[in-house]
Amino acid sequence: MNQPFSLFLSRVVASLLVMVLALSAMGVFLIWAARSVDREDIRRQREIAGYALREIRSNLAHNQESSTFWDDAVEKTAAVDNQDWIDGNLGSWMHTFFGIDESYVLDGQDRPIYAFAEDQTQSPSFYEARLDAVRPYLKTLRTKLAAGEAPVEGSQEQSISVTDYIYIAGRPSVLSLKPILSDSGRLDQPLSTIYVHVAIQHLDGDIIHRVGQAHVLQDLKFIPKAERDPGAASVALMSDAGDVAIEFEWTPFKPGRRLLASLSPVLALVASTLMVGTLLVSSASYRRKLDRIKNSEHIRYLASHDSLTGLPNRSAYEKAADDQVTALSLRQQSGPLAFLYMDLDRFKQVNDIFGHQVGDAVLVEFARRLAEVLPANASAYRVGGDEFAALIPNRTTREVESLCTRIIDSIAEPVEAEGRRAFVGVSIGVAVAPHHGTDRQELHRKADVALYHAKMAGRRRFSIFGTQMDDAIQNRAAIESDLREALRTAKGLSVVYQPKFASDGSRVLGAEALVRWQHPQRGAISPGIFIPIAEEASLIADLGLWVLETACRDAIAWPIAHLAVNVSPVQLRATGFAETVFAVLSKTNFPAARLELEMTETDFADSEEIGLQNIKALNAKGITIAIDDFGTGSSTFERLRDISFDRIKIDQSFVKNITESKGDAEIVRAMISMAHAKGLKTTAEGVETPEQRDVLRAFGCDELQGYLLGRPMPPTQLSKILRTTVVATL
Ligand code: C2E
Ligand code: CA
Ligand code: CA
Repeated sequence: MNQPFSLFLSRVVASLLVMVLALSAMGVFLIWAARSVDREDIRRQREIAGYALREIRSNLAHNQESSTFWDDAVEKTAAVDNQDWIDGNLGSWMHTFFGIDESYVLDGQDRPIYAFAEDQTQSPSFYEARLDAVRPYLKTLRTKLAAGEAPVEGSQEQSISVTDYIYIAGRPSVLSLKPILSDSGRLDQPLSTIYVHVAIQHLDGDIIHRVGQAHVLQDLKFIPKAERDPGAASVALMSDAGDVAIEFEWTPFKPGRRLLASLSPVLALVASTLMVGTLLVSSASYRRKLDRIKNSEHIRYLASHDSLTGLPNRSAYEKAADDQVTALSLRQQSGPLAFLYMDLDRFKQVNDIFGHQVGDAVLVEFARRLAEVLPANASAYRVGGDEFAALIPNRTTREVESLCTRIIDSIAEPVEAEGRRAFVGVSIGVAVAPHHGTDRQELHRKADVALYHAKMAGRRRFSIFGTQMDDAIQNRAAIESDLREALRTAKGLSVVYQPKFASDGSRVLGAEALVRWQHPQRGAISPGIFIPIAEEASLIADLGLWVLETACRDAIAWPIAHLAVNVSPVQLRATGFAETVFAVLSKTNFPAARLELEMTETDFADSEEIGLQNIKALNAKGITIAIDDFGTGSSTFERLRDISFDRIKIDQSFVKNITESKGDAEIVRAMISMAHAKGLKTTAEGVETPEQRDVLRAFGCDELQGYLLGRPMPPTQLSKILRTTVVATL
């Protein structure tokens, strides 16, 4: 299960579940409480119902008494023609006044003399129908009368009675028998003369409805056993003998349920609020936890990745390198594994001059272009400020070489950022496992040495580790101190001059000063090696100055149009460089107009402010500028538009191929015609064959320089040549 999902389950779903359970428990409790309240209330209602219904029985006897315990009644019932009186006091009247359903008056021999039933006076014979039901009770009453029994102690009755619950003609009823007795006691009543009043109150009629209303027992009614409603509340009235049960039922009032019903909207609101609250709180906690997890994942990612370029970082590189080297030595992986160590050229300057934002953009862009060029199974890393590494498995040396070239080409296009165009290059050092070692650190060190070598060889190149490099590096420190010493004493240093000819080869137009160093022990050391060392060791300013001064002295008398002297970008970037040049000119009396300074095009992008100021100042004095090695970098005329210069020196690499490669020839032709269109002079370097010379001449190149026409030579030798050759008129 994925992590966020299980976290979601544990945080949100679990919280909701717990809340649902808690709310359900609460609901169950509320329902239980309501039920028990209801049960309790129904019990109470049952008591009330029983009491109210029993009251009908006691009331019946009591009501009878209002007319049966009375001297008048004794006399009037015994009189002849008594029907009206009886009806007015014991029959219709009782029906009207007390709602008694049936009344009968029996004489001393239990013969009916009056009957009232079904809302009207009936013939006394109507009593026949009640005879069987009443008989046992009548017997009891007579027995009690004979025994002279007094009314029940504590009852409100003043005369005895016999009452009971009974079914009469299938109808549930209360039966009450009362003797008609003298209330004053003045009348003598022998047992055989005592009349009896029989009252029947049906319990399935109106009276029950009234009792129900009076005691708030909804729909209270008699209910035959077969029709019992299980949902209704009920109570039974039992006959004294226990053989008759009259059941009543009503719709019970359920206060608990009602309370619950009235509370339910509020409860629902509370419950949903709690649910929503839980959801919010738990999902917030889920999100927080998720964020923490993501953060820790992010931290892990950050720990292994460079945040700027998104490439894995140095520690990731070391781990991957270790793993792959191990796999290689365990033969889990076939083929070689190339370690590429890359360093951006002049990145520091881009950062210094354009600012860090542009610098960052350059790094990001390089990472992007690098990723585009690398094969799928290779991986790239950012291992330092402007240092990158790549691990390339299973490639032949040739393939790695062409890959390096593609990487170098990829960054040849300038990086545009913040409205600036930044030109950087990349130098690459390569070591290959297992050929150069089977230990990550050893391989990395060798790639680093190769990188250093590439830098020293002039940047924008790659070199594959060779054992001689190790020596070179070790020698470097010695070379540096020896060069310092040579500069101090001027011993071993010299300047040679390579003539530059008009394209017809007949005239010497100028000469380029090239420094030479004869090392006391090592012999001649190439400027290609010691110039970069001088640049790094801050010796170039002194060395450059020394060459300039020497050249000016040597060339002052030569009949050439211009003396060309190389200037390192490090010199050009130094404040006051132009002034030091002027100082040399005035010291040697060399005319400014005859001095041409050669600088490489790539320097200008870096040397913007100070470099441009220097160039302006030099121009102002009439010193001309030549762009050296033109075409090697990512040079375009457009790129150089801010710089005022006078000449381009087409790089040897183009000249070399000019007779073989149509493409190169086309490029050279375009360079020359564009330069001319802009009023610039052109010099072709490294002309070694007559064919090259002829092509260049056909293209209209102004000036040719190369071994074919003249090698770099000591000043004395050039002096001789100049004396014998036709030289340009000054
Ligand atoms: P560069 O300025 O491009 O100088 C031309 C290089 O090409 C010189 O190498 C020269 O000897 C060589 N060359 C000339 N004609 C031919 C040819 O026909 N075929 C071939 N294969 N090579 C030819 P060098 O003298 O070894 O100088 C190497 C680089 O050292 C120069 O390249 C320049 O960048 C630098 N350098 C030399 N002297 C100075 C100096 O006084 N100051 C500074 N800053 N740099 C210097
Ligand atoms: Ca040069
Ligand atoms: Ca050159």
